[in-house]
Amino acid sequence: MPGRVMTNPAHDPELVPPGTRCVILTGRYSYRGSDRLDITRQGCDRLRAAGNPCPGEVLAPSHAILWPAKRALEKATTDEARGLIFAAYRASYISELRDRYRRREKEFRALLEAPYQTLVCFCVDERCCHRVPAAEALAKIGGPAAYYFGECEPRPSGEPMRVVCVR
Ligand SMILES: [Zn+2]
Repeated sequence: MPGRVMTNPAHDPELVPPGTRCVILTGRYSYRGSDRLDITRQGCDRLRAAGNPCPGEVLAPSHAILWPAKRALEKATTDEARGLIFAAYRASYISELRDRYRRREKEFRALLEAPYQTLVCFCVDERCCHRVPAAEALAKIGGPAAYYFGECEPRPSGEPMRVVCVR
């Protein structure tokens, strides 16, 4: 596909199921490909304040669920506690997306018009980031025409699970 740099050999377009019209990936905030979609609350608020379009805002968590989760994570002292906080945050986020989809379906569908969307967030580890449930939700909305491929740059192998941030 033009305009996209494949950073992971696993992301060979040949491996995408036939009939796919939108390949969804997730990545870190530093990702600079032309298909980068900022889905962070801070990033979208900044874009909007500067008068720029922010199509990823429909996938950004609300302030109402983001800050309590962040404060709770900062206070948590064990990985188990952080895991539980993230699980609860993830559930609130998914329920927020469902509610938003009912009111803003067109914005979700518009994202699926692009051949690639790489959803980015500040979190280092995608396993404790809203970008994965966001990608999964988008893929579900797109049905067989959409496919979530995974993280666009692989983690170094053996990197331990770290629940350190929610943004
Ligand atoms: Zn994140």
